[in-house]
Amino acid sequence: MKQYLLSIDQGTTSTRAMLFDENGKACYTVQKEFTQYFPHDGWVEHDPEEIWSTTLSVVIDALSKAKQDDVSVAAIGITNQRETTVIWNRATGKPIYNAIVWQDRRTADYCESLRAKDKESVVTAKTGLLLDPYFSGTKVNWILNHVDGAREQANLGELAFGTIDTFLIWRLTQGAVHATDATNASRTMLFNIHTQSWDKALLDLLEVPESLLAEVKDSSADFGVTSQALLGVEIPIGGVAGDQQAALIGQACFQPGMIKSTYGTGCFMMLNTGSQVIESKNRLLTTVAYRLNGVTTYALEGSIFVAGAAIQWLRDGIGIIDSAADSEKMAASLASNAGVYLVPAFTGLGAPHWDPDARAAIFGMTRDTGPAELVRATLESVCYQTSDLLNAMNGDGQAPLSIRIDGGMVQNNWLCDFLADVLDVDVERPQETETTALGAAYLAGLQVGIFDSINTIAKNWQSESKFKADMDESKRSLLLANWHKAVRKVTSHD
Ligand code: ADP
Repeated sequence: MKQYLLSIDQGTTSTRAMLFDENGKACYTVQKEFTQYFPHDGWVEHDPEEIWSTTLSVVIDALSKAKQDDVSVAAIGITNQRETTVIWNRATGKPIYNAIVWQDRRTADYCESLRAKDKESVVTAKTGLLLDPYFSGTKVNWILNHVDGAREQANLGELAFGTIDTFLIWRLTQGAVHATDATNASRTMLFNIHTQSWDKALLDLLEVPESLLAEVKDSSADFGVTSQALLGVEIPIGGVAGDQQAALIGQACFQPGMIKSTYGTGCFMMLNTGSQVIESKNRLLTTVAYRLNGVTTYALEGSIFVAGAAIQWLRDGIGIIDSAADSEKMAASLASNAGVYLVPAFTGLGAPHWDPDARAAIFGMTRDTGPAELVRATLESVCYQTSDLLNAMNGDGQAPLSIRIDGGMVQNNWLCDFLADVLDVDVERPQETETTALGAAYLAGLQVGIFDSINTIAKNWQSESKFKADMDESKRSLLLANWHKAVRKVTSHD
């Protein structure tokens, strides 16, 4: 009897459901976009009810596809946009405020005030994170302080907090389960990654009552079953992980030293560091990669805010390309970058620079600079930023064993070639590029015994292309030196 695994991939702009077979092969995808709210400068919100309605709709669609194929669904895996924060009433299940999205900067001043009280080192030591609005903790504090009556209700134990995974589990089980996994917990700024528990001192610091918190489970665990009343069937929810961690699992990066790098709107690079908790000296984040059978595997993570978004800017902002795919042949049409460098700091710079005030700039233009040079400089910038992340990882004593890439941008072969050259490491693109959804399916499959171990999963991974590093050292050094010169011109502190 064949079985499917159903993966729910609740992302920042859309919600997807995918069906995978027992070999991890994608069989069906359904996707729904939802509304982004920008109530003030720097604020980003989602309506949790819309997140839920899109989820329910794609799940029902995927279940009916499974029925049509006459295949049962063995388990559900959930992967989600990380850090995004929801607080709801335990009795009614109704959110008391919109979801505050990871990109939201409203708690920047609060973070600054905590930093002024010298609290960053304690936060970093316990959580592996930086004191930044990105993470959930200060968002929880904001909701409790700004929604009428919220703090009193929280003190009475009437409210529940969750990242999106937790909210969806609550809804899918109709309130029977309030749980999260260790990867999502590790992004809240409330969770001690060493002890693997909610941290009393952090809860006190951020004024978050313990009664709000979910039970933290392994990434493959019993997260309850879908409610019969809701879906007509009880399917076990067996796997949960934040999106970047799920991609690491989908890429089968299970050995220390293995890196996955995802190129979508932004770029997220994650390095498996095994049982070692590396405290970065280069402003990378330390995070939980996954927790299986009670054993925690850690990772170092670097995020670049703008990767594919710069290609969108070329297309929609200044209109010099018709489609993202055009960028490939335009870049390839040039013998060199002609000395043109673009620093895509449209929304500041992420790791390892962490400069929110930096702004984008183009350097080295002459009268014969045209669209092709700008396109090439944009694609090159994605590779240089990755090189900066890799250097930061090297600086933390970590040499890469392999680099596996995914995300919408890696359809661009020119980009992949140039990336390998600039990094001076071969990079590999897998056959299955929907690695995030696949990772969640793998976690669910582990829980229900479709996969017996991560070794079986690792054997499923198949390379589609390998891009060889073959640029000579002097050329690479010159390109990187010029890039760094350009970055220095846009940053205030580097
Ligand atoms: P996300 O999951 O963040 O929405 P995706 O993984 O779907 O992103 O990737 C979409 C991004 O990849 C877009 O920003 C788009 O501009 C970029 N992109 C897609 N195809 C190409 C291509 N052939 N060359 C360069 N960039 C591309």
